[in-house]
Amino acid sequence: MTTDDATLVLGVDLDGVCADYEGGFRAAVVRQHDRDPADLPPQTVLDQFTEWGLDPESFARTHRLAVTEDRMFRHMRAMPGVSEALWELSDAGVWIRIITHRLCVNWAHEVTAADTAAWLDEQRIPYRDLCFIGAKPDVGADIYVEDSPTNVLALRAAGHHTIVFDQAYNRHLPAPRAHDWPEVVAQVRAVLHARQRQARLPLD
Ligand SMILES: [Mg+2]
Repeated sequence: MTTDDATLVLGVDLDGVCADYEGGFRAAVVRQHDRDPADLPPQTVLDQFTEWGLDPESFARTHRLAVTEDRMFRHMRAMPGVSEALWELSDAGVWIRIITHRLCVNWAHEVTAADTAAWLDEQRIPYRDLCFIGAKPDVGADIYVEDSPTNVLALRAAGHHTIVFDQAYNRHLPAPRAHDWPEVVAQVRAVLHARQRQARLPLD
């Protein structure tokens, strides 16, 4: 099955949107560095966890072990309601395209790809494409759901309708914004209905 021009393609980011990446990484930092979770608050700036006292080198080492030993991508928590929301949109005819930049860790690609696919199945998340890609504007979706300020700005600069998935580190970005998955569903349904109305207009 392939998309045609009438199909609405929803580009869905994984970390910070479908999956609680920060919570998964926090658990790994607690285990690896014997830290108190109370000292690891939500990030207000999305970077390599400098607010938790990590430098680039310790972040890289900790992240690699989080993937290969803690198996973070296999065990992290799903965002509330993500499965139900994506099933509802999929049943309404929306094409779900998962887009992630998770292959940024060298020499951990096998476990990253396998754990990501296993997690998506376990969490009952429907999708038709799974894209491991850094250049997100290149995947050709109609609407994107994204939490990273850098990615939101790049997608919008390329002219793409992008819904900000609310996180403490992206509150400075303008609307459209969704605070949870039911809000994503409502916004995507509104676009879908507008398209369907347009398609029913009589031709001159
Ligand atoms: Mg993300």
